[in-house]
Amino acid sequence: MTTIEFEAVPAVEARPRTPGLVVMKFGGTSVGDTEKLKRVAARLVAAHDDGAKVVAVLSAMGKTTDELIRLAHEVSSNPHPREYDMLVSTGERISNALCAMAIHDLGHEAVSFTGSQAGIVTDDSHTKAKIVEVRAQRIHGALDENRIVLVAGFQGVSTATQDVTTLGRGGSDTTAVALAAALGADACEIFTDVAGVFTADPRIVPGALKLNSVTYEEMLEMSASGAKVMALRSIEVARSYGVKLRVRSTFVDGEGTWIGEEDDVVLEKAIISGVTHDTSEAKVTIVGVPDRPGIAAKVFRELAGAAVNIDMIVQNVSQDGAATISFTLPKTDVPIAEPILDRLREELGANRVEHDPDVAKISLIGAGMKSHPGVAADMFDALAEAGINIEIISTSSIRVSCVIRASQVERAVEVVHARFQSFAEERVNG
Ligand code: ADP
Ligand code: ASP
Ligand code: MG
Repeated sequence: MTTIEFEAVPAVEARPRTPGLVVMKFGGTSVGDTEKLKRVAARLVAAHDDGAKVVAVLSAMGKTTDELIRLAHEVSSNPHPREYDMLVSTGERISNALCAMAIHDLGHEAVSFTGSQAGIVTDDSHTKAKIVEVRAQRIHGALDENRIVLVAGFQGVSTATQDVTTLGRGGSDTTAVALAAALGADACEIFTDVAGVFTADPRIVPGALKLNSVTYEEMLEMSASGAKVMALRSIEVARSYGVKLRVRSTFVDGEGTWIGEEDDVVLEKAIISGVTHDTSEAKVTIVGVPDRPGIAAKVFRELAGAAVNIDMIVQNVSQDGAATISFTLPKTDVPIAEPILDRLREELGANRVEHDPDVAKISLIGAGMKSHPGVAADMFDALAEAGINIEIISTSSIRVSCVIRASQVERAVEVVHARFQSFAEERVNG
């Protein structure tokens, strides 16, 4: 009755609704120590006392996941993916179990589940698994017994291998949204350490403005280009299933930011929604590849075959008929790509392959770009005035991205945000 197939994407209307059910997700900083965990417990109890059926998704405490990943790399240069998932999924078990204990001490019934126990079924691609189904019977059973349910975020189980999988960094957001969709929740609230989604990372641009609302389309572009406040995959799931989200602070009361369809979120004048940055990618350049049909297809097919995510690509033809192909990829995929590229260099007779980890990407996002020519030129202008060189450019209909030197990224975000400050103010203040 409560099984939703995520690959099939059924009509949103067909989703079984559970009136009064809220999914509340708390990120790592929000559960950073036991005092904070107790505060989250009290908040869940208060929502339950108000009559809600409460499903909470907690991240691992503070920097636990970073620490576990560090340990993995201390014992292995290339940690075995299955064992990596066994290890890093434990952080969320700790925080959710502790919170359930704290709820018991407040005189309420609670139960914590691993992703597997909660029925989060994924494919078998370890370290970046996708949720394919939610088998929510056990959660419904616990809710029917009037318990507060806690689900360990960021993890699931592959039915093909019966092994624990993880969903990629920031994956607790995806757990929360998938549960909200599968359970037909009234609301999905993402509690974090900032007051909502801002026009730039507020840690880099203190004058960044909090957006009242943002469309799925804009948030997808913002997440894809580095705004880590919401994991990309969580927004894809939210859009597919029409899950309206609210991002808000754990520590300060406020409206937060609504994420939804354009019709649902009252859109302010939407030329610009934000400036994002990403330092998680590296640049690879293949120098001196023969300039003939089929070469790019071969390079990128082989990399795709190894599940390497390619982002921006640029190809230049030099005078002697040989081409240079540059592209960006996640730094974490470099160890997978390296041996493939070495082999391709020999097969294609290319001169050499260069790896450059010191790059960053800065992006400007806004639905209004479609109808406002000149936005890209203004962005390039702002970078040029600050003496920042652009190495690769890519665009979508609502985004312009530039690869620059990593050492210049904070300055780049500041100057581009400053250039568009008046648009941001117009959007937020009307
Ligand atoms: P959590 O642990 O709650 O999941 P994250 O660290 O994943 O929190 O995401 C919140 C952080 O995202 C903020 O502390 C902020 O520095 C960063 N961030 C980057 N870009 C943005 C943005 N445009 N709006 C808000 N926060 C942003
Ligand atoms: N703990 C995981 C991470 O740090 C998942 C999450 O917090 O969303 O990436
Ligand atoms: Mg996060």
